[in-house]
Amino acid sequence: MQILYDSTRGGEKGLTASQTILKGLADDGGLFVPQQFPKLTAGFKELSEKNYREVAFEVLRLFLTDFSDEELRYCIDHAYDEKFDDPEICPLHEADGTWYLELFHGKTIAFKDMALSILPYLMTVSAKKNNISNEIVILTATSGDTGKAALAGFADVPGTSIIVFYPKDGVSPVQEKQMVTQKGDNTHVIAIRGNFDDAQTGVKKIFSNQELRAELKEKGYQFSSANSINVGRLVPQVAYYVYAYTRLLARGVISEGEPVNFTVPTGNFGNILAAYYAGQIGVPVNKLICASNKNKVLFDFFRTGTYDRNRPFYVTTSPSMDILVSSNLERLLYQITGKDPQETASLMQSLNTGGRYAVTKEMQKALDGFYGDFAAEEEVMETIRIIYEKERYVIDPHTAVAAAVYRRYRDETGDTVPTVLASTASPYKFGRSVLHAIDPEQFDGQSDEQQFFSLHDISGVEIPQAIRELMQAEIRHKTVVDPAGMEQAVRDRIYSSHPSVNL
Ligand SMILES: *Cc1c(COP(=O)(O)O)cnc(C)c1O
Repeated sequence: MQILYDSTRGGEKGLTASQTILKGLADDGGLFVPQQFPKLTAGFKELSEKNYREVAFEVLRLFLTDFSDEELRYCIDHAYDEKFDDPEICPLHEADGTWYLELFHGKTIAFKDMALSILPYLMTVSAKKNNISNEIVILTATSGDTGKAALAGFADVPGTSIIVFYPKDGVSPVQEKQMVTQKGDNTHVIAIRGNFDDAQTGVKKIFSNQELRAELKEKGYQFSSANSINVGRLVPQVAYYVYAYTRLLARGVISEGEPVNFTVPTGNFGNILAAYYAGQIGVPVNKLICASNKNKVLFDFFRTGTYDRNRPFYVTTSPSMDILVSSNLERLLYQITGKDPQETASLMQSLNTGGRYAVTKEMQKALDGFYGDFAAEEEVMETIRIIYEKERYVIDPHTAVAAAVYRRYRDETGDTVPTVLASTASPYKFGRSVLHAIDPEQFDGQSDEQQFFSLHDISGVEIPQAIRELMQAEIRHKTVVDPAGMEQAVRDRIYSSHPSVNL
């Protein structure tokens, strides 16, 4: 079955997977969605005997139908290799009556590696398939995590280069260090004097600058983006939910056809949407438990049917979930409108103008498969401590948001369906918060380095390569510019890294 993609807002129809991967966002501002959901053809028993790469292959080929088997295998083999520090790629860890799906064994020790390690290959193959010989220039503004994961994914991938802008005083010292030490001849990291919004606005301006685009095209370059709405990021995320299901089957936790719950710590709604897509292609799902932090706009949406971003923004210990507009929710809205692009576009329009929208009672009913809740900061800290004391298992604050929500869900509903919890970051990535939760008196005064050793002592988990590298890495990127200088900085990076280009 061939799968083609439409924009959620109706402006574009019938694109191939590779075309959507190159475009990212549709021209009408909508997100690309499959015209229909494919169904898993391999049985779960059969899949339970396959390794991660093979399961990913079975999932990707359903959605990316214009890729040949050979092309998909090339992408998968280059993405899910020894970069991951666990041969299982994303192992399941049983603790507290839950299955923690550890999605943080890649290069930047957080779950975005799962998709960003394959996206560069999906993109370069897509370019070839569409007879594009330009070099792909990835342009991103980051508030921390995504930038680093994208840099690590694109570093030294032939046919690509990547330029990341970050706010000089708007990321954590560890995040900054991770970025400015990034290796790879095709990577460029630039600090701007301004905040994240300035960086994002600047990038959007560059993206929409037609003159610059034409100039680059003439010289053999084209922009693309690696953000979380790209089909090339969404589809690889579906794979690990299928994988988790088949591992529970292999361990005899469930029998074939028995449902599971997925609990997901949510920000932009990409990860949990992938779980929903897994359900659509045939994974038996009971509930999708959507866990928010104090920025609980999604909890309120599931409870009331009204999405309202007009509210205070809180900075929490789970920064990757500090989001008031969850872009990928648009794909779910499209489904619950009965795939009505006009209706979806008009909801998005009211979000744009008034910052809010309300769905109909009927649409709200279609959200039955979701359960939303949130965890406040004290509860997140308490959950890290409880899971540690009970199980000697150390979890990061994002994962703890999900754990807190799931524990309460279990208490309140009595639901005993086996539950997979998306564990989205290594505790090493947020060591300070984690150790503070476990024992502030003992750990608060320690240096970063001492804290890594403390985490090692209490968890028994090896210090990840990403952290060891960071402790002695050389700073490679030192440029700081004003927002007004961003465009020139882009030109400089692109042309200077290719001195042979004739200006
Ligand atoms: C990005 C991120 C999330 C949120 O995932 P979404 O797909 O945006 O919902 C959760 N945890 C961590 C560690 C992340 O980096």
